[in-house]
Amino acid sequence: MKWHEMRVEEVEERINSDLENGLNDEEVIKRIEQFGPNELKEAEKQNVLLLFLEQFKDFMVVVLLAATLISGLLGEYIDAIAIMAIVLINGLLGFFQERKAEKSLHALKELSAPQVTVLRNGEWKKVPSREVAVGDVVKFSSGDRIGADMRIVKSSSLEIEESALTGESLPVVKKESPIVGDNISIGDQENMAFMGTVVTRGSGVGVVVATGMHTAMGQIADLLQSSETIITPLQRRLEQLGKILIVVALILTFLVVAIGVLQGHDIYTMFLAGVSLAVAAIPEGLPAIVTIALSLGVTRMIKQKSIVRKLPAVETLGCASVICSDKTGTLTQNKMSVTNIWSSGKVWKVSGVGYEPKGDFILENKEMNPNNEKPLQQLLTFGLLCNNANIVKKNGHYVLDGDPTEGALTVAAMKAGLTREGLLSQFKLVKEFPFDSERKMMTVIVEDKQGKAFAITKGAPDVVMDVSNSILWDGRKETFTPKFKDEVQGAVYQFASDALRNIAIAFKPLENNNVSQFEAEKDLTLIGIQGMIDPPRPEVQAAVKECKAAGIKTVMITGDHVVTAKAIALQLGILPFGGKVLDGKALSNMTDDELEEIVDDVYVYARVSPQHKLKIVKALQRKGHIVAMTGDGVNDAPAIKASDIGIAMGITGTDVAKEASSLVLLDDNFATIKSAIKEGRNIYENIRKFIRYLLASNVGEILVMLFAMLMGLPLPLVAIQILWVNLVTDGLPAMALGLDQPEDDVMKRKPRNPKEGVFARGLWWKIISRGFLIGIVTLIAFVIVYNQNPDNLPYAQTVAFATLVMAQLIHVFDCRSEKSIFHRNPFENMYLVVAVLSSVLLMLIVIYYPPLQTIFHTVYLDPKEWLLILGLASLPTFLLVGSLFTRKQKENMV
Ligand code: ATP
Repeated sequence: MKWHEMRVEEVEERINSDLENGLNDEEVIKRIEQFGPNELKEAEKQNVLLLFLEQFKDFMVVVLLAATLISGLLGEYIDAIAIMAIVLINGLLGFFQERKAEKSLHALKELSAPQVTVLRNGEWKKVPSREVAVGDVVKFSSGDRIGADMRIVKSSSLEIEESALTGESLPVVKKESPIVGDNISIGDQENMAFMGTVVTRGSGVGVVVATGMHTAMGQIADLLQSSETIITPLQRRLEQLGKILIVVALILTFLVVAIGVLQGHDIYTMFLAGVSLAVAAIPEGLPAIVTIALSLGVTRMIKQKSIVRKLPAVETLGCASVICSDKTGTLTQNKMSVTNIWSSGKVWKVSGVGYEPKGDFILENKEMNPNNEKPLQQLLTFGLLCNNANIVKKNGHYVLDGDPTEGALTVAAMKAGLTREGLLSQFKLVKEFPFDSERKMMTVIVEDKQGKAFAITKGAPDVVMDVSNSILWDGRKETFTPKFKDEVQGAVYQFASDALRNIAIAFKPLENNNVSQFEAEKDLTLIGIQGMIDPPRPEVQAAVKECKAAGIKTVMITGDHVVTAKAIALQLGILPFGGKVLDGKALSNMTDDELEEIVDDVYVYARVSPQHKLKIVKALQRKGHIVAMTGDGVNDAPAIKASDIGIAMGITGTDVAKEASSLVLLDDNFATIKSAIKEGRNIYENIRKFIRYLLASNVGEILVMLFAMLMGLPLPLVAIQILWVNLVTDGLPAMALGLDQPEDDVMKRKPRNPKEGVFARGLWWKIISRGFLIGIVTLIAFVIVYNQNPDNLPYAQTVAFATLVMAQLIHVFDCRSEKSIFHRNPFENMYLVVAVLSSVLLMLIVIYYPPLQTIFHTVYLDPKEWLLILGLASLPTFLLVGSLFTRKQKENMV
């Protein structure tokens, strides 16, 4: 169908849509049933069976299975079946772990899926992109990603970048009129908007003509599929480390077997024990547990209102040393109300907060009727005309539909009894040049009843003053002399010092209504200023303080006036004594080197444009900082991408900003960034905790065997016991450590150096020393009991087994703290308590339940033996208390 050749009405009729009211819900359901949901088909998922089998592809597991087969053939059925069962359970555990990791990653993708604004039953609403149907009427504006193929029915300075489809990176100017001709390529269909392309400027409305795989993008979708999974730097490092550990474990195991055989042990028993030891000691499960810890952390972060879009960001979060935050909406509430209005040297105060259009106008402490104040009325009228925000009453509450700055102007005008409908009966809107953060103004062209055209501009006072050559003073148009300029600047300064955000309003009569933006926005007549409050978010001050304690600097970046920005930065504790405030102009005039020189002293950047953000990020990064940068608009995307942690706003953010980001704030709130950083630090620490636990346990397991062989002793543990320890004692508590709460001082430490390895800050020492001690005490327990009952080897082996298990289970509580076991309440982490108690219980069952005794080669232990076991098992943890809090760790505190 050649939609681009048709007139809009023709498209509406063909597709059976209604441009006035949109589709109704039943129709949408019917159409989605007919054409399918609006989504591109995903690449084939990995087969579940294959995923399960993958758990067994590990070399040592294969060897173990072969060994089991041999023992089965030799008639050791019980051993063979038990080992098989344990390997199977291990595989199942790995399988479920991976499935869980995959599922939570998928859920994340769903959460960050784009939304589309559609007209349904006469009302605009946001729906997930997949619920868009053919015939839906869709609204989009700068920064949105187009959700389906559409014929454009309305456009206002609309430009769309279609490189995803055509490869052409320059945006295309879009229009509504039909395009006729032969072989019109996609790039030339200027009245169409295609799925996957991005609105870079202006706004528009379109009617959907194709969805899902029927779109132009759908036809090339196969080419776009990539199933690549991103792994984090830590995971990569662990993978490399894993390889080294495998070699070390294999060498040690080989030594155990070789020495054992030389000492006269039975080859077959040694072989089985060796292979089991290798399986147990190789930390093959580490990467999977790391993924789970990361994804569980990510789930917790969602509860705290931040969505991680790129997994590696979780790690980088813990390294962040500077947060560059937008002001409006992130540090402040973005709930604006006009409180002060200036015109012709007079200041009116406006009472009433929020969006309820009720309030009084007060001049010199006296209530005034705004209709008697000519300049005030004009200012309010033009403020409402050059404006797209509406205030609507929903369930008894006044709510804003549109931009808060514009909403404040609308409410102020409504307080004086003006309404948009009333004004539109006197003025016709001809054209709009939308607001953008670069120009910092917006203009509309209107025509009055007599057909006279005007340009009305509103914007940042300094910008509007620059394009004005006259001022309306007491109803007369005066030349904008330095004296008048001083008057206006004085008023702006006064308002800004009270932390008000200011909008200047100006106008000019036009000869005709067909003018360019440049023409419209020059030689204007300034009417006055409206100043609005935007209160700080109550939780931000404490969050800034907490970040400071954590060695993280907060920097405010705003398009607002220097004085306004400074006033708010002071209120929030962002600007310290002696801290610098830099404005956009000064920033533009600086070279990169000059900025780098002072960047550490600057806390507020005001009147900046989005492209300045990139310069700031780069200067900070050159100074060695790890930078988190927030943003919402299309122009923020490069800075978001370049920063170490790009953060997009969930509510006000555009699709483009979200796609460039690695973290999305669901509530646009600065305090959420702080929580995310805290969580990021905690996740990393938890990963260190279970690495420490698992590796120390492995070291202990290998050493007890190695030392016994060197000393010419019998085997202290049999194969199945080693496998059991690996599965139950190591696995369960390690997972619970991944869910541990942060230590109290997690936000009192300096940010982590991104170059530091996982084992930095004394972790190696802890692993080796604890592992060594666990091995030694197990051996001592074995030797003592074996010497007492030299004829009862299984008895000594059972004691060794119990000592090893208990030593590890006590040690796990030590792993929760960087300092010592006494710094934390063991009952804080109930998952861990339950994991440890279950491990103890399972061990008791294995020891005391006769049918399992046969399988696990255990025997009934005399209760008095437990004194010895528990006494020795607690030594590795308690012997070294106090030696841990090294000087290095003290240096790490802020
Ligand atoms: P942030 O603090 O999040 O960077 P900001 O709101 O301070 O954002 P911009 O949105 O770029 O920065 O606004 C810059 C200036 O432009 C404001 O101080 C205001 O004077 C003016 N302005 C803001 N919104 C509008 C609008 N809709 N129409 C006209 N002028 C506007």
